Amino acid sequence: MVDHRDFMRLAIAQARTGLANGEQPFGTVIASNNKIVFQTYSQKVALCDPTAHAETLAVRAASQRLRRTLGDCILYTTCEPCPMCLGAMLNAGLKRLVLGARLRDLSAVNPVFAFGNYSAENFAALLAWNLEVTSGILTEECIELYRQASVPLTR
Ligand SMILES: [Zn+2]
Repeated sequence: MVDHRDFMRLAIAQARTGLANGEQPFGTVIASNNKIVFQTYSQKVALCDPTAHAETLAVRAASQRLRRTLGDCILYTTCEPCPMCLGAMLNAGLKRLVLGARLRDLSAVNPVFAFGNYSAENFAALLAWNLEVTSGILTEECIELYRQASVPLTR
């Protein structure tokens, strides 16, 4: 039995490591069969790369590590993924997403998170993508990451 909180705690730890390294606090873990395939944090600052979001980096690295699609994997992330990261997940064949904080929860913390009516489910529905979304896993801890962020949160 997978306890999603165990992997979310690791994603939160990744986000904190990123923050300690001057990055925005976003963390992601990709797991398969209850084992970690890859975990990382956002590296937009260090890589000078606006696409170096935690989820996109994790999808790329996990795919390269497994040398196949990620259909049996679960992606855990501290914040609801942006359209770019969901696009990467779709292209990797991922079908399961577990998230901590919703963008709509975070828009009250920082306006950078205001994505209108966007949600992971809305995005998936637009593409007829059968993505299973589990939310509400350690949500308060994830929201706290962004409330306390000492690094500017920008898009
Ligand atoms: Zn993203």
